Amino acid sequence: MKNEVWGPYRWEAKRSVGLFASPCCGATAVVEHGECRFPCQTLAMEPCQTLAMDPRQTRSQGPAPSAGYGETSMSIICGDHMAPRQALGMEVQAWTAGPPSVNLHSPDRGLKGETMERLLPNDDATDLLEVVRDFAQSELAPRAADAEENEEFPRETFRQMGEMGLLSLAYPEEYGGSGQPYETYLQALEEIAAAWMSVGVGTSVHTMTCYPVATFGTDEQKQRFLPEMLGGSLLGAYALSEAGAGSDVAAMTTRATRDGDDYVLRGTKSWISHGGHADFYITFARTGEGKSGISCFHVPADADGLEFGVPEKKMGLTGSSTTTVTYDDVRVPVDNLIGGEGKGMSIALSALTSGRLGIAASATGLAQAALDAASAYAKERHQFGQAIAGFQGMQFMLADMAAKVASARALYLDAARRRDRGMKFVREAAIAKMVATDAAMSVTTDAVQVLGGYGYTRDFPVERYMREAKVTQIFEGTNQIQRLVIARDL
Ligand SMILES: Cc1cc2nc3c(=O)[nH]c(=O)nc-3n(C[C@H](O)[C@H](O)[C@H](O)COP(=O)(O)OP(=O)(O)OC[C@H]3O[C@@H](n4cnc5c(N)ncnc54)[C@H](O)[C@@H]3O)c2cc1C
Repeated sequence: MKNEVWGPYRWEAKRSVGLFASPCCGATAVVEHGECRFPCQTLAMEPCQTLAMDPRQTRSQGPAPSAGYGETSMSIICGDHMAPRQALGMEVQAWTAGPPSVNLHSPDRGLKGETMERLLPNDDATDLLEVVRDFAQSELAPRAADAEENEEFPRETFRQMGEMGLLSLAYPEEYGGSGQPYETYLQALEEIAAAWMSVGVGTSVHTMTCYPVATFGTDEQKQRFLPEMLGGSLLGAYALSEAGAGSDVAAMTTRATRDGDDYVLRGTKSWISHGGHADFYITFARTGEGKSGISCFHVPADADGLEFGVPEKKMGLTGSSTTTVTYDDVRVPVDNLIGGEGKGMSIALSALTSGRLGIAASATGLAQAALDAASAYAKERHQFGQAIAGFQGMQFMLADMAAKVASARALYLDAARRRDRGMKFVREAAIAKMVATDAAMSVTTDAVQVLGGYGYTRDFPVERYMREAKVTQIFEGTNQIQRLVIARDL
């Protein structure tokens, strides 16, 4: 097997959409069910049929049965005039000559082993994790790259996950939840984030938005709000930060003024995940002065006077919208006040303590995906006559990455098990968030290094993983703020 020439490639794709490069003229083109013209040649592609560029050297094996989501399966051998450079949302398996095109989302990529070896509390959890992993790998992973590239918010995916019970794993069954311990929920979340980080983070955010009602709401509020929130027909957003109140949330200026049987909210929240797509906004607003002057409200998305800014242009998590939310005299009934006047700060901090574990688990999943991609690539890529995975320099880097992923997982699970047993877990949650998100940043950066120049291109997902990792060190309390939380508890 030679490694330094382009093609011939034998590869299999499960979707008929891809970005191809012509080495004759260097041009790239997106191909979708049809014909694509490079300046030098014409490329024809039919669903379930052949990709033909050089008839003398191109053979097709197909059609193969279509998979879900309108995917088209095919198996092609193409000649050495053309090499598939990138597969946007495609599952591609390539071997023979040239730079390896590794199937990074293959079900056999090692995550299965992780799933089978997880320490889970019972057989139900083992079955659940198997279902979640299959869903994540078959339905989320193949769509992630495309959706992130096109900045498409996956609203339908959240609806589907709600119907599957994946948005309510950690909540009581009497209100429509799945009644799972936090340690099971977080491991399921890890599988989701490993497949598609925006969906993992979105699941964590939604889970946090249900927390104030589930924990501090009256029975009437639980009956009124929770079934739809936990059932997934409603998606939530958590509106705490403001332009002038990030780490220092007590500096918020959004105000809620009592007017008869209503509160009237006025102000602007910043950085709100799911902004413009959510169905309700758990909103923290000032009803008095100081830290004890903050209250928590359930604000429906269709309330008059609620407006959303243009989505932020972010470096990663581009499938998840982040906007300002402006309250222009938004009126909500007094019945939508959660936990009583002045309880907002303790509700916000309590929700964030549990929410941070969701970010830790998501970051761990992202790091696991990067590790899997890097180790699969290292076994395929040959330099100096051998797979680069055989070099000790690479082995040590991969070993360090594996140790960081395992440490992150151990820490969030320790905090989750304490939470499940009713023990204090504030310090442990802050440690888990800090260590897991730092691990994600480091492991995804190293994954780019393992892939060399290819890691720096969008042909492979690791550069996206690296961009996605950065924000985990920032939101739900920066890692500097986690250190403050840890130090205060010593
Ligand atoms: C993609 C994205 C999604 C988000 N989603 C949401 C959401 O859904 N809801 C929501 O309410 N918010 C959300 N946020 C906001 C996020 O929680 C804040 O960005 C974060 O809390 C930091 O606030 P800031 O950006 O104002 O930074 P600042 O608070 O201005 O911090 C700037 C720097 O100063 C450091 N710093 C600040 N105070 C201290 C201190 N005391 N000691 C040491 N260092 C300090 C910080 O660590 C940071 O490095 C989101 C942010 C992003 C980027």
